[in-house]
Amino acid sequence: MKLHEYQAKRLFADFGISIPKGRVASNANQVKEIANELGCPVVIKSQVLVGGRGKAGGIRLAKTSKEAKEFATKILGTEIKGLPVKNVLVDEAIDIKQEIYFGIVNDRTMRKPVLMASSEGGIEIEELALRNPEKIFKIYINPLIGLRDYQIKNLASSMDLPKSLWKEFINTANGLWALFNSIDATLAEINPLVITKDDRIIALDGKMIIDDNAIFRQPMISDMRDVDIEEPEEVEARKFSLSYIKLDGEIGCMVNGAGLAMATMDIIKEFGGNPANFLDIGGGASADKVAAALKIILSDKSVKAILINIFGGITRCDEVAKGILLALEDVNTTMPIVVRLTGTNDQEGLKILQEANLDAAESLVDCAKKAIQRSKGE
Ligand code: GDP
Ligand code: MN
Repeated sequence: MKLHEYQAKRLFADFGISIPKGRVASNANQVKEIANELGCPVVIKSQVLVGGRGKAGGIRLAKTSKEAKEFATKILGTEIKGLPVKNVLVDEAIDIKQEIYFGIVNDRTMRKPVLMASSEGGIEIEELALRNPEKIFKIYINPLIGLRDYQIKNLASSMDLPKSLWKEFINTANGLWALFNSIDATLAEINPLVITKDDRIIALDGKMIIDDNAIFRQPMISDMRDVDIEEPEEVEARKFSLSYIKLDGEIGCMVNGAGLAMATMDIIKEFGGNPANFLDIGGGASADKVAAALKIILSDKSVKAILINIFGGITRCDEVAKGILLALEDVNTTMPIVVRLTGTNDQEGLKILQEANLDAAESLVDCAKKAIQRSKGE
C-alpha cells in the first residue's frame, strides 16, 4: 500500500524529520486560506500516487495566495498521469541549495534493508542508477543490529556533506529507519531531501510503501488507504482475500495458485493473447469465493473471454464449478468462458459444467487457444 506525500510527511514529522510547514486541501478556497496563513510564496503539490509530478505539471510555485488559488482551481479535479487530483498539499516554499536522494528499501538479494543516498537528488532513483550509478552510496542495515551512527557518518563523508550538517543528517537517517521499521514499510523515500540556503535539512517530498501482508497489524496505516484511486476490482478482491492484479490485456484469468497463474499467463502470451489480469483464488477456495472472483473478472470492461484453470488439490473442482454457476446466476452475461479442471473431484466438476453447457478444455494449451479464439469472436 502506498501513502500520499502529505501522509508520508506527517509520519516523517512524527519521527523527528524536518518537513516544510503545510497543509492538505481539497478545494481552491482552502488553498487560498492556507497560503495566507503560511505566507507566500507557497508550493501547490497534487497528491497523486505517482512520481515525476513536477515534470507532469502537477507542482507549481505560487507567489501570491491569489495565484495559489488560481492554480488549485486549474489542477483540482483534473488528472496527472491518469490519476485524479483530489487533494493538493500547500507547503511553504523552500529556498533550495542542494537536492539529495535519500531512501530505504528492502534488498531481497542481500536479505537486508538498504539505505541509499546520493548528492544528485531530485531525479528518480531508477534514472540516477542508469546515469550515475557511482554517485549512489549504499549502506546495508542488519535488521537485528539496526542502523549505527558510524554507518551514517561514513555515508555523509562519502557524499561530501559539510560537517556542520552531520548532526541533522544523522537525525534524519535514524528517523527514517525507525519509521521504516515501525510501520512495516518496504520503501521509505525522501526525494529530494534538501539542504536549504540557510543550512537546514528538510524532507521536501515523501514516498512510502507499506507491506500489504503487514497491514493487519498497522491499523493506523490501513485507515490512510485511499480506495478511490485504486482499481475498484482490486478493492473488491481484497474483501474476499483474492490476489488480483489488473493488467491491460483481454483474456480474464482465474487460477488457483500464484505459480500456476504465472504459467497460465505465459501460455496465453505464447499463443498470442494477452492476460487482462492476474487472479489467484488460493487453495481450498469455496464456491462463494470462486463466484466473487468470477464476478470481479466479469465486471472488467476490457475482458473479451475468460480462462479458468484449476489444478485441484485442496481446491475441489466440483466446488469451483458450483462457484462458476453461482456467479452466472447473478450476472447475466454472454461472455465466453473456457474452463480447464483437473485433479480432486474433476469428473464431478466437469459434469456440473456440462449440464450448464459451459465450455471445458482438455489441457491448458487447448484452453488457452480456445480462450484466445473466443476473445476474437471466432
Ligand atoms: P515529484 O516530481 O513527484 O517527485 O515531486 P517533488 O515533491 O519531488 O517535487 C519536484 C521538484 O520540485 C523538486 O525536486 C524540487 O526541485 C521542486 N520543489 C518542490 N518543492 C519545492 C520548494 O518548496 N521550493 C523549491 N524551490 N522547489 C521545490
Ligand atoms: Mn520527488
